[in-house]
Amino acid sequence: MMGGMGMKKPAEAKKGLMVSPIENGTVIDHIPPGKAIKIAEILNLLQPGYVVIIGQNLRSTKYVLKDLIKVENRYLTGEEYNKIALIAPNATVNMIRNFEINEKRKVTVPDVLEEVAFCANANCISNKEHVPSRLYTVSRDPLVMVCHYCNFESKGEELKLKGAGGR
Ligand SMILES: [Zn+2]
Repeated sequence: MMGGMGMKKPAEAKKGLMVSPIENGTVIDHIPPGKAIKIAEILNLLQPGYVVIIGQNLRSTKYVLKDLIKVENRYLTGEEYNKIALIAPNATVNMIRNFEINEKRKVTVPDVLEEVAFCANANCISNKEHVPSRLYTVSRDPLVMVCHYCNFESKGEELKLKGAGGR
């Protein structure tokens, strides 16, 4: 018989996802479907040495799908929370210690982003010279950020994040 996961009752399947089998590390949950790889890239998790489990198109509720990332022995910095929020505004981050959720946090897009994302205006001074990027949040839903230097408004999908995979 094939497909063990599909045969599970929903409650068990959900429990299996929510209760992390990792001893220490981070679980990033409620990522929009298809975005987990992007987030893993930006957090530099796709490198040798990290034990990472990426779940894609998992069932969150009967009709809603989500992605999920588990990484062992790795915790996130404040800047990394900001990056996640730009891609997955409703993500939750669980810090696991000794197999238990030590802390659970919702990510939020901060009012000011410094050196996290590039201005979407290719001619902006922050893209041409060694000037740190600085973006202000105008709206969180939909995500719109305005540049400190050129006043260009970047929409969520246009933002390129700094770091691996964010070129
Ligand atoms: Zn700009």
